[in-house]
Amino acid sequence: MAQWSARSWRDKPIEQQPKYSDPSQLHAVEQQLSQFPPLVFAEEIRALRNQLKNVCEGEGFLLQGGDCAESFSDFNAPKIRDTFKVILQMAIVMTFAGSCPVTKVARMAGQYAKPRSSDFETVGDLSLPSYRGDIINGPEFVDAARQPDPERMLKAYHHSAATLNLLRAFAQGGLANLHKVHKWNLSFLASNPLKERYQQIAEEIQSALRFMEVLGINADNNATIHETSLFTSHEALLLPYEQALTRTDTLTGLPYDCSAHMVWIGERTRKLDQAHVEFMRGIHNPIGVKVGPTMPADELIALLDILNPDNEPGRLTLITRMGADNLANKLPELVRRVKQEGRNVVWSSDPMHGNTIKADNGLKTRNFDAIHKELRHFFAIHQAEGTYPGGIHLEMTGEDVTECTGGAYRISEADLSSRYRTQCDPRLNADQVLELAFLVAESLKA
Ligand code: PEP
Ligand code: MN
Repeated sequence: MAQWSARSWRDKPIEQQPKYSDPSQLHAVEQQLSQFPPLVFAEEIRALRNQLKNVCEGEGFLLQGGDCAESFSDFNAPKIRDTFKVILQMAIVMTFAGSCPVTKVARMAGQYAKPRSSDFETVGDLSLPSYRGDIINGPEFVDAARQPDPERMLKAYHHSAATLNLLRAFAQGGLANLHKVHKWNLSFLASNPLKERYQQIAEEIQSALRFMEVLGINADNNATIHETSLFTSHEALLLPYEQALTRTDTLTGLPYDCSAHMVWIGERTRKLDQAHVEFMRGIHNPIGVKVGPTMPADELIALLDILNPDNEPGRLTLITRMGADNLANKLPELVRRVKQEGRNVVWSSDPMHGNTIKADNGLKTRNFDAIHKELRHFFAIHQAEGTYPGGIHLEMTGEDVTECTGGAYRISEADLSSRYRTQCDPRLNADQVLELAFLVAESLKA
């Protein structure tokens, strides 16, 4: 295989990229970004990779979630805090009810680039470039907004830095303190049937902490009780941005993409001989690959050869997203083959992207039961094959949105338009996500 460099992807065919009109402006932005401080550090990236190694070996569970696409206009502290809280609440439910350590990875602080099924969007007789995420162009259906603008990369960098700053503060500054779990604002649970189960878990945690104190284990000085770690991730789609944030670690001399702890390749850009696979093979971050229903087993093995030639556990997470019905038909063969070949991967389930439908009113939605069904199949298949279901990957928000149907509150298609706020795909709201956490915890225990 030819020599890898942070720019060797430029010699390969590439898909899903914007066409910038002014190459010199693009170049100037890339230069600036490459001088900016890294957003995350190699040592943190290695810490995540170690945790994922444990997950790979069946000693933990990966919880990855956040917006489909973050947005510049809807950028504020309460939104970041609410998503942080709901990820933490899910993790607590799963750690406690499932007796399993949970590695938390947010789709946040950089999830700004979107692959699209069509290059153009047509309304009436007006045809404009598709919206590709705030790092590339604007969502408004007007010509000026839809032109790709390299300066948006600088804005995405600064928004990511501010988001990360707040996430780090929340993780270390007491918001994650287990003593406070029961005091969290659970208003969204007010009339939720799961409220009592959640409060029961919070109570059990409190009595475990009291018990530790009686034994003389000082919880107040114990970082495990006070702090948490939350890692960041996004789809590494816009390669000029990812290249510009790739740095050589001074300690190990290895290249890391310092735009996030974990990055993944989407279903539409995972071709073996193309640019995204080329870029990802050389960085030392833990990486994910989305695996849809059309992936042949031979191609998957060839992809593992390229992306993880040394077969290191924790390097690679396969995120299956096949749809509730396809999964039962397609996943067993892939799982069997990967096991037969002795490949070390974390198997994670994205039950969102294979279950997107259009409601009668034209809004994109997903049904809670279909999402749950894909997860149930995922756990059952791994159990049947003797492999480990290592994680879930969700599109979710801490806000009280109405974007996915179903769940305990029985959101109907008619309810969708009341609080449909997503910039791209429909997300589970806080209630739906917590409900799912209880259901997944049952499967973890099983
Ligand atoms: C996504 O995760 O938002 C996405 C576009 O997923 P996929 O590549 O699986 O379609
Ligand atoms: Mn999406």
